[in-house]
Amino acid sequence: MMPRSTIEPIGFASLCHGIVAFSTLRDLHVDGGDSYARFNVCDYTGDAPAHIMACRSELCVALGIASGHLVMPRQTHSARVAIIDSDFMALNDDARSERLQGIDALVTPLPGVAVGVNTADCVPLLLRDVAAGIIAVAHAGWKGTVARIATRTVEAMQQLGAEPSRIEAAIGPSICPQCFEVGDEVVEQFAAAHFPVDAIVHRSAVTGKAHIDLWEANATALTEAGVPRELITLTHRCTRCNPERYFSARRLGIASGRTFTAIMRR
Ligand SMILES: [Zn+2]
Repeated sequence: MMPRSTIEPIGFASLCHGIVAFSTLRDLHVDGGDSYARFNVCDYTGDAPAHIMACRSELCVALGIASGHLVMPRQTHSARVAIIDSDFMALNDDARSERLQGIDALVTPLPGVAVGVNTADCVPLLLRDVAAGIIAVAHAGWKGTVARIATRTVEAMQQLGAEPSRIEAAIGPSICPQCFEVGDEVVEQFAAAHFPVDAIVHRSAVTGKAHIDLWEANATALTEAGVPRELITLTHRCTRCNPERYFSARRLGIASGRTFTAIMRR
């Protein structure tokens, strides 16, 4: 079994023992390690294939699933959502990879399948409608947030029978508003996409630079999509503030590991 310290549970508004939700932790030891240490399952940011496979296998053992039941997309900061159903599960590896290319959110009605996204400062969103048995995960960097990937994900869940009024959401480890300094051109994109700039943008009294609250921006998009605000949980864990626990692209550069945030119905 994986040491308990390698994964950290993510809580929702209510308790539901039939669904596991978690982020992986870097689990760095005192002697540190490289930018992919210790635990990374993302295979497109430059890590060694043998290390990635060892970490994936460790995770599958901990979750009690076969390797083919761990599903993650090849993210490109899009707002595209894929549905992981029995047809998808029947595909071979090449066909699956093709289907997952350029996808940034996954929705599934299947039990025993862990769907997750890889992030290092970007926002991982976890969603579930327990009554409908529908779960989802989305990667929302600032571009995906502006493109309302949160809304697209809720819509895909609805196609499978979920009700927005029942959907619970959790916003996983990602960059905090104090760490997320941006240029004014980014603020302009949020304004153009009709986000409430007054609520999500703050200016540093020291530098005058804009800081965006991606947690609040995604919570806003979710409530617009019909998810009750009281069912949205912000974990308030910052990836950049906690380098021993999470990967942070702002600290390590993009050639680094990723924190894997996932959800699975038992
Ligand atoms: Zn921070």
